Amino acid sequence: MSNCDILIVGAQGAGLSAASEIRRFDSSVKIVILEKSNYISFSNCGIPLFIRDKIKKIEELTYYNREGFEKRKNVKIVCGVRVYKINNHKREVFYTFSDGREGKITYSKLILAVGATPNSIGENFNHVFSIRGPESAISLKRFLSEKKPEKCAIVGGGAVGLEMADALSDMGISVEIFEKGVLLPLLTEDARNNFVGAVKGKGIKINEGVDVNDVEELEDRVLLKVGGDVFEYDFVIYNIGIYPSTNDIEIIPEVDRFSNGAILVNEFMQSSLGNIYACGDCIAIRDLSGKYHFHPSGQLANITGRVAGRNVLGIYFPFGGSLISTKLKISGYEIGWFGDLKESSSVIKIPVKLFSLPRYVGNVDNRVYADIYFDVERKKIVGGVFFGKYGAFHQMDLLSMMIYSEKGIRDFFGFENGYTPFFNNSQNIFQQLFLKLEKYL
Ligand SMILES: Cc1cc2nc3c(=O)[nH]c(=O)nc-3n(C[C@H](O)[C@H](O)[C@H](O)COP(=O)(O)OP(=O)(O)OC[C@H]3O[C@@H](n4cnc5c(N)ncnc54)[C@H](O)[C@@H]3O)c2cc1C
Repeated sequence: MSNCDILIVGAQGAGLSAASEIRRFDSSVKIVILEKSNYISFSNCGIPLFIRDKIKKIEELTYYNREGFEKRKNVKIVCGVRVYKINNHKREVFYTFSDGREGKITYSKLILAVGATPNSIGENFNHVFSIRGPESAISLKRFLSEKKPEKCAIVGGGAVGLEMADALSDMGISVEIFEKGVLLPLLTEDARNNFVGAVKGKGIKINEGVDVNDVEELEDRVLLKVGGDVFEYDFVIYNIGIYPSTNDIEIIPEVDRFSNGAILVNEFMQSSLGNIYACGDCIAIRDLSGKYHFHPSGQLANITGRVAGRNVLGIYFPFGGSLISTKLKISGYEIGWFGDLKESSSVIKIPVKLFSLPRYVGNVDNRVYADIYFDVERKKIVGGVFFGKYGAFHQMDLLSMMIYSEKGIRDFFGFENGYTPFFNNSQNIFQQLFLKLEKYL
């Protein structure tokens, strides 16, 4: 393969955003993309819908196919190749094809967009699934339709585990969750009780504070060993966290990394190696105060891909910092959090109950439980956790935009954004919060 100007590794949200952005500004630079999977531009976030059969074909979760993207953006994409080594002294990338053949390509600048990989339970399991990427979704869906399993355990009660529990339970499968800590630990006690009650109400069993010691597969059953007990299931979803996929690539010389191996990048998505950029789930991202976090997120993959794409061309376009936001919709609840969620000598946690709609709008639960993190010295809200059946996301969005603008609740008291009873409240979140927080302002 011939040399290229810009080599991108990874062809999903981050990698293709970077490629698209480069092409918007430069029509002649030679771009090559290497991708391990046989799919490109795949949306992991839609996997629960695919499993529920609300989406029939896996291709519906991809915006582009390889040929379409190549033609539209004038790039070369090679699928089915795994990059295992980068020698940046010689600007060389080494990769293998699935049949074992080896390849090498040289670059001038490199963008790593290899995402993250689920922590593995080991090879050779047929009835244990980790959910990430199109191949994992296809193999679980095939298993469900061929074997018609009845009983499933979810190991790991994080976002993906909870989404899968919700989906599988709605499909009539008996689901049991095993979580080392507690589910959604950031929620207020009231909110957590409501959530856990709703999940249990669906018939999902929850085991919190339990460590799964071992998983063993016997023909068509999976045995989970928890303490001295052994439980038996038709299959297991194993999602106990992810690691940055750059950990599986040897990089010479070594690049600066976060504690879990994610690539440390500056505001231009540039690594310590200068000509190597990185974006998406394989990087550690800076929050508004400049502190690094490992925060895998679909939006950040897109944003950081675009930032990398511009800066790799030398276009000055710094990233402003992340609010480290998360949103989940599970069992009909809107659950989200953002910002700095640590109490300290100056930051206090203030639980508040907000109302997303006027009380007279019937049949809708208008309560939103929120924990507001308030810096009493700076008189600023620095973070929040939101939970409710309706309107929690809307309120969270408004408040996070206020924080991103670095303004305070007093500045936003006069902010009006229109009102109609079936969508929002005549007192928006800023007026509601101002009245609750005025004594601190
Ligand atoms: C079930 C599920 C639901 C989710 N829901 C949400 C949600 O609601 N909201 C949200 O914000 N985020 C969600 N996410 C996370 C979101 O999908 C990711 O943050 C996003 O896909 C990251 O994009 P990326 O391009 O950085 O990485 P990826 O999508 O992981 O893409 C990286 C690509 O690099 C390739 N690759 C890896 N290693 C190599 C190698 N050595 N050589 C060549 N290619 C390689 C991989 O094959 C992969 O295709 C969800 C994730 C999952 C699994």
